[in-house]
Amino acid sequence: MTAANTFDLIVIGAGSGGIAASRRAASHGAKVLLIEGTRVGGTCVLRGCIPKKLMMYASEMSSAFSEASAFGWSEVTSQFDVARWTQAKDNELNRLEGVYRQMLANSGVQTLLGHARITGERTVEANGETYRAERILIATGGAPSIDGIPGLEQAWTSDDVLQLSALPKSLLVIGAGYIAVEFASILARLGVHVSMAYRADLPLRGFDEDLRAQAAQALESLGVTLHASARSQALSKHAGGFALRLEDGTELQADAVLNATGRKPNIRGLGLESVGIATDASGAIPVDADSRTTAPGIWAIGDVTNRVNLTPVAIAEGRAFADTEFGGRHIQANHANVASAVFCSPPIATIGLTEAQAMERGPTDVYVSQFRPMKKAFVGSQERTYMKLIVDRTTDRVSGIHMLGADAPEIIQGLAIAISAGATKRDFDNTMAMHPTSAEEFVLMREPARRHG
Ligand code: NDP
Repeated sequence: MTAANTFDLIVIGAGSGGIAASRRAASHGAKVLLIEGTRVGGTCVLRGCIPKKLMMYASEMSSAFSEASAFGWSEVTSQFDVARWTQAKDNELNRLEGVYRQMLANSGVQTLLGHARITGERTVEANGETYRAERILIATGGAPSIDGIPGLEQAWTSDDVLQLSALPKSLLVIGAGYIAVEFASILARLGVHVSMAYRADLPLRGFDEDLRAQAAQALESLGVTLHASARSQALSKHAGGFALRLEDGTELQADAVLNATGRKPNIRGLGLESVGIATDASGAIPVDADSRTTAPGIWAIGDVTNRVNLTPVAIAEGRAFADTEFGGRHIQANHANVASAVFCSPPIATIGLTEAQAMERGPTDVYVSQFRPMKKAFVGSQERTYMKLIVDRTTDRVSGIHMLGADAPEIIQGLAIAISAGATKRDFDNTMAMHPTSAEEFVLMREPARRHG
């Protein structure tokens, strides 16, 4: 083993978590090798959050155009060309990849393109070379799950939708999680006839029940046809498109199908067996609160561990690992009160307990505000904003905040600080409103809509 092939840390996977961990470890003086199979940036930058949000921005233009005349502009007529969007998005992602590569180089992290395979507790093989490090960090993320329903492998995944050169006339989305709801909403606004088939009675399992109902209504307002309680049996492809057969015998037809049935940890070809790491039932690498695997000298962070599968969480886990192992400070990522957003139309954002969870814990007051936002009311749109505060009556602490409405993610990110700081309802009441905004409603809720317990 040459000195050139020996490192303090080898990180496998240059996504958000792996990049953050590499740079933080290097800033503490570690000699770091980051190995990535394809491109630097990972799911969030190359196939997820960033291109999805760029597509969402494109879809929002449709209502800007249609509402313009109500604000005094002459009629705007325009056509969306998805191929032009795809090209512009690719240019932007190339630019971002360059920025990430530059940041890694500036931090002193050595980057290697190649498939990494763990061959022992301290060794990794890539491109036929063996590399050695005292510590190995697995940050390989996840990939779309394609085996939940027979025939599902023929459907598009979100990766494909982000690479389209032409829009389909109709699209059937299978699933009702983050990806399903976001892409259904985006493509409907781009003029595609979208339908959704999902097993539950409402989309977004795990979210607050009222928010789920609001999400279903919002999707229907965009023209999305919802097939709730739909248990898929098999997907087949024919000359004119696709047919999804449901267990009750119904067949749903569409020109194209989006498989949004979840993602699986990326562990293929990693060599976990060589170090005795066994995955859990979901295929994820089990880790402790310090992101340590069962193998000495090997840690794992991000979606490959299937804890809270969100970019900022993977980054926090990666930095906590690097600070603990190389910075002399024991830090653990905090998985409590993680805010999250669904970039549908209007968007959803949420933090803390749902109403049902809060009721189980003790006496709970629920404050609700619903209204037509000024901008939408002005143009005669029926779009509504929905806001909910959950308050623990015993302590007066605000334990959950849920919103569907314009700018919800921006508003809830700010309020997440209040939740983290343990703000009470009285603190909200004592905060001066900022007028005219939608966010001010959160500090103007006086009477509970419901009291439980
Ligand atoms: P989710 O886990 O959010 O949703 C998966 C959906 O697929 C659910 O509706 C689930 O139904 C359904 N499903 C699963 N298996 C089957 C099956 N065999 N047959 C039919 N339906 C099935 O996954 P996503 O793919 O939407 O997102 C993956 C991850 O990416 C999420 O965990 C999220 O954290 C992250 N993400 C975050 C975003 C954001 O922060 N805005 C955006 C996009 C992704 P059921 O509810 O019945 O189980």
